[in-house]
Amino acid sequence: METIEIPVKTIPIMAKTDVLVIGSGPGGLSAALACAREGVDTMLVERYGCFGGNITQSMIGTLAWYRSNDKVVDAGGVGCEFEQRSREMGASLSIFLYEIIDTEMFKYVADTLVQESGLVPVLHCSTVDVIMEGNKIKGVITESKSGRQAILAKRVIDATGDADIAHFCGAPYRLDPKDTLEPVSVNFGCSGVDVQTFLDYIINRQTSIADWGQESGEKEAKEFSTFLVEPFTKAKENGEIPEYAHLASYWNDFTDAGEVRSLNAIHMPGYDCTDVQDLTKAEIEGRKHVMWAIKALKKYTPGFDKARLRTIGASLGTRESRKILGAYNLTKHDVLNEARFKDSIGINPEFLDGNNTAIMPSTGRYFHVPYGIILPQKVENLLVAGRCVAGDKITHAATRQMMCCTVTGQGAGVAAAVSVKDKVTCRGVDISKVQKALKKQGVRIE
Ligand SMILES: Cc1cc2nc3c(=O)[nH]c(=O)nc-3n(C[C@H](O)[C@H](O)[C@H](O)COP(=O)(O)OP(=O)(O)OC[C@H]3O[C@@H](n4cnc5c(N)ncnc54)[C@H](O)[C@@H]3O)c2cc1C
Repeated sequence: METIEIPVKTIPIMAKTDVLVIGSGPGGLSAALACAREGVDTMLVERYGCFGGNITQSMIGTLAWYRSNDKVVDAGGVGCEFEQRSREMGASLSIFLYEIIDTEMFKYVADTLVQESGLVPVLHCSTVDVIMEGNKIKGVITESKSGRQAILAKRVIDATGDADIAHFCGAPYRLDPKDTLEPVSVNFGCSGVDVQTFLDYIINRQTSIADWGQESGEKEAKEFSTFLVEPFTKAKENGEIPEYAHLASYWNDFTDAGEVRSLNAIHMPGYDCTDVQDLTKAEIEGRKHVMWAIKALKKYTPGFDKARLRTIGASLGTRESRKILGAYNLTKHDVLNEARFKDSIGINPEFLDGNNTAIMPSTGRYFHVPYGIILPQKVENLLVAGRCVAGDKITHAATRQMMCCTVTGQGAGVAAAVSVKDKVTCRGVDISKVQKALKKQGVRIE
């Protein structure tokens, strides 16, 4: 790529804070709330106009859709609080056996949690670079309608999903070839659906998780799934949509107003979401897929004949991009063999969904989430939270799940707070103090 030199410029310092969290998805929002509740100054910076990340941008309300029986265990903490507050604020819907967050209402739920916590929020603000002193991060450079500004911070938490901050710092990470990354999705919703007719059709089919076509076991074959592929197959067979269209729908919620509000039907492989050209192509190609999907749904799905497009997610959804190389890198063996770690910051059920694996957590088995996977190599005072934590491809199918992102987020927020209070680096933090504070915040770590 050709390059140009730009002159050195003096830019204003927007703020100074103890802990700065970049990105407000399940990882970042949990980190910022947990940190502020430890009584240290916390700032949360988000590039879009609302908090919530994939929840609010891609309309993914299925925080714990896997909770289909009482053997399932959770870490508790902020993730469960998201569900609880959504319930209390009328932002929760039930479908079949599980509860779903109303993703539009969650924008307001998140605002409320942020304001109650006393943290300092900044929306519409992208982070584009870092300020380093040797191998220590000292702050970031932001771009917004206010121009280029700096924020100085004692600790920084990278919750961008894509490990943008770790990348700017020069911390080691892995970005697999794009044809091996999980597909991206442009989610959409429909109105004008005869919901009862649609539900009768779905229930009569008795589709299970085994129908997803991923590696799974006998118990998954017994788990009901609303998975819908027939309309798209028929439309392809009849030459009405192209053969290459990547359509198969998981779908989330419905309302008595005739809405099916989030169809996760488009799965496009081969895009690198850290490349702006790929992002552009994927958004445009994704919307074309949405039109094909609606055409097929209207023609071949009972209850959808009068359906109309209601919404397209504000941003495409990314499942996989950069993964940091951590002080510890979680392994497939760990997640499938109930790994126990002395530096546990929470637990996660043995639940995998992604990278061609679907394992439901209906056994009560779980693994410890170690502090080492949120601690990047080589850079000091930086932690990561959410889907970019360290681990192999199979563990990604567990750690990318939103509940697990809240676990790594809450762990990062509390650890950053403890390290500020104790005046030690994030690497040097006393993990027993972090664990004690997490337990006090309601997190199960053992
Ligand atoms: C289509 C789809 C369906 C899914 N379904 C489920 C499901 O049913 N259940 C489940 O548990 N998981 C599901 N997932 C996975 C889950 O949604 C994600 O893995 C999870 O949201 C990741 O959380 P995160 O906080 O790491 O990142 P994100 O949710 O991506 O949040 C990152 C935030 O950082 C902001 N940001 C990014 N870069 C910058 C920057 N440079 N400056 C400032 N802000 C920045 C973004 O705008 C965003 O708000 C799904 C994912 C997709 C794509």
